[in-house]
This record gives sequence, C-alpha cells and structure tokens, in this order.
Amino acid sequence: MRIAIAGTGYVGLVTAVCLAERGHNVTCVDVDANKIAIMQQGISPIYEEGLPELMKKNADRIVYTLDYESAYNNAEVIFIGVGTPEKKDGSANLNYVWAVVKNIAESVNHKCVVVVKSTVPIGTNEKVEKYLEENKRENAKFSVVSNPEFLAQGTAVHDTLFASRIVIGANNQEAADTMMKVYENFDVPKLITDRQSAEMIKYASNDFLALKISYINEIANLCEQIGADINDVATGMGFDTRIGNKFLNAGIGYGGSCFPKDTKALHWISAFYDKELKTVKAAIEVNDQQKLKLIKKAKAYYESFAGLKIAVLGLTFKPGTDDLREAPSLVNIPIFLEDGAEVYAYDPVGENNYKKLYPTEITYCQTPQEALKDADICFIFTEWPEIKALTLNDFALMKKVIILDGRNCFALKEMEVLPIAYESIGRRAIRNI
Ligand code: NAD
Repeated sequence: MRIAIAGTGYVGLVTAVCLAERGHNVTCVDVDANKIAIMQQGISPIYEEGLPELMKKNADRIVYTLDYESAYNNAEVIFIGVGTPEKKDGSANLNYVWAVVKNIAESVNHKCVVVVKSTVPIGTNEKVEKYLEENKRENAKFSVVSNPEFLAQGTAVHDTLFASRIVIGANNQEAADTMMKVYENFDVPKLITDRQSAEMIKYASNDFLALKISYINEIANLCEQIGADINDVATGMGFDTRIGNKFLNAGIGYGGSCFPKDTKALHWISAFYDKELKTVKAAIEVNDQQKLKLIKKAKAYYESFAGLKIAVLGLTFKPGTDDLREAPSLVNIPIFLEDGAEVYAYDPVGENNYKKLYPTEITYCQTPQEALKDADICFIFTEWPEIKALTLNDFALMKKVIILDGRNCFALKEMEVLPIAYESIGRRAIRNI
C-alpha cells in the first residue's frame, strides 16, 4: 500500500520503517529540513536499536520529504505521528496535530484513511474527521481512525514488529478493513473498537504503568524506613501473575516523553468532566517527589554541593535511548549547578542532546572513569550497561567513594564489604566510610 507518515520522531520513523519492512511503500514527511536531509543520506536522526539497519534494508521502499502536498495526495493511508507535548495547564498541546490535519485537507483530493497515531485526548479523532469533512477538496473523502502507539523507546523496533497488540478505533467497517490490510503482515493480536475507546486505551495503559512505578517507589520508600529490601519485595510480588514482574523496579522516578505528559493529560481530561482521577494524581505527586530522592540522601554527607566535584552517570531518561525528555537528570543537575558544584557527566549516547541544553555548564566525559576521577560524590540516574559494569576499581578513582544510585545498579552483598558509602532506593544504606 502507499502510506504517508507525518512526523519522523521516535514513533513516526519507527512506524515508517516497520511498515516498509512488512512490504509497504512509505513516504515520511517532516517539517524539520535538517532531519529530512540526514535521513535522505540513510542516517537515523535518533538513537534506537535496530533502526539504522532496517532503514538501510528497506531504503528502496522509503522516501523522506518536506513536500507534504504530494506525499499526502499520493497516499491511500496517512498516519499522523507528530508530538503532542504537555501544555502549562497539563492538557495536551494539539497544535502539531492540527497543522498536519490542515495540510491533509489542503492536499488530498481522493479517498483516503487518516490514522491518528499520536496520543490525543478522547474525542480528538471525531473532531479531526469533522474538520476534514468541512474543509476537504472536491474529490476528497476521509475516514479517520485512531491507532494508538504502545512502543517503548529503546525497544521501539521490536515493539512495533512484534507489538503486544494493535488497537484500531474505527467508526466504519471499510476504514477498519483498510487498517487490517495495513497490518496484514503483523502477526500480533488486533483489537477493533470505537474511536473513543481506542483513544482511552492509550491513556489508561500508560497511566496504569506510571501508577505501577509510583506504587513500587512508595513501597520502596517505606522499605527504607522499616528495614525491608525492595528488590526482594518486588521479586516476591512479581511471582503473582495477577501482578506481573514488569515495572516493579524501584528508582528515582519515571521520565520520558509519555508517562509524565499522559498522566497529566488524563488528569486534566477527567477534571474537564468534573471528575478527579485520585490514583493518577497520586502517581504524579509521588513521581515528582521521587526525582529529588537522591538529593535528600546526599544531605547526610554534604550540607551543600558548593565547590564539590559531582560525577553524574547517566543523563537520558532510561537506557537504550538518546531522549532526555523529563529525565531525572534534568531535575537534579540544575540544583547541583545552582549550588555551585562542578558537574562531570557521562552518558553513552545522551551527550549531544544534553549539550543543546547545557553547552558549557557541564564537563562531558567520554568514559565513566573520567567522570569519577577525584569526585566528591557520584549520582547514578540511568542504568546503562556500561554503568552497571563498573567495579570498585573504577569508583576508587573518586576522592571520596560516596555513591548515590537511583537505579539500584549494584547488589548490596557486593557493596557492603567495600569501604564505601552506597545508597540506593528502597534498600538499606551502606556507610562504611
Ligand atoms: P517526536 O517529538 O520525537 O517527533 C515528532 C516529529 O514530528 C518531529 O520530527 C517534528 O519535526 C515532526 N513534526 C512537527 N510538526 C510537523 C508537521 N506539521 N508535519 C510533519 N512533521 C511534523 O515525537 P514522538 O516521541 O515520536 O511522539 C509522537 C506521538 O506519539 C506523541 O503523541 C507521543 O505521545 C506518542 N507516543 C510516543 C511514544 C514514545 O515512546 N516516544 C510512544 C507511544 C506514543
């Protein structure tokens, strides 16, 4: 099929490449000329495992262009995969979606299915269809379908090719049939619903996962008080298949482009209907507090960070991605800098994006050892394999071996025999210095 995709971010580009891998001809549209130029050279503008290889393999089935008009007017199906970031009041900013919808109305002059893959508030698909109906060209005929995305950054290609499910929210059989054809070669569970339910499935799923993380983090905080070990507690809970063993890793809170904004957006939507989602509100509050957890622990060692050399290991919101959106490092590092600390940071892939925010304020290190050398304290914000592989020899490079680990990277049994201070989340503190 001839498919156009608006937006070549983590969702749009991965979707495009995976649809091409399954045999479709895909045209990727973006407004970022720099990105398009990079992709035209066969280079992925984002870090995502397996993506460069699939881009190369399917190069003859993918076109990258700024020319939305011919891309949309030649497509049987147009996916919208642009960003829906958070507005100041917590609601979703739909400006990028509407810009694409306007472009589609101006360009398309044939029958076509418009697929909203961006995460949008319940009712948006209906509004998009109404707008297209009212503003369409003479020979255009649109059906709008909700097809939310569930991929996780870091495993996005795998999550798309072998999706847990494909949800199709359609209000007519013909559009649903077209979508079944798009996904014909994806051997995964498919669920056809109405559009509102599809839109809700996305928010309800993400908010549930955020809730699970905040729940385990609150239990972890209590474990510290009562002397229990959150890793053992989570393992014990995870055997219960009703609970499941995923998303039970305690840490310094969730980040990324989805959980923070999608919890706030659903909370906003429910407030709009005069309801309060109490559990979601609690998940947001717990997460905000959790991001400051290591700073509070650090106060046991230093009253202020002024004049200290701080080693920061991990900048991205999670391993496997170069994405910094809502990363805990973005909450903590400004506090270190404001206090007057010198920050030496290491991240295997996040450095270039961080430099756009902090070009000169931070010293970027090429190895974790370089960051650790002569440091007064070390903060771990991301559990990259390179960081989990560090040993005492590496930490011994510090002036004082005080490690505050926000991702429980190391086994307590190994750390407790060392002459170090090691504090993690939901486990007892080791203070051997
Ligand atoms: P992103 O910010 O990485 O990418 C958005 C892209 O859209 C950018 O390249 C931007 O230049 C482009 N764009 C903006 N306006 C455009 C226009 N008028 N025409 C064409 N392109 C335009 O966003 P993302 O992380 O891929 O997220 C996209 C959507 O998918 C969001 O709604 C998000 O909530 C949802 N989602 C994201 C993830 C994830 O893990 N990132 C997972 C599931 C769902």
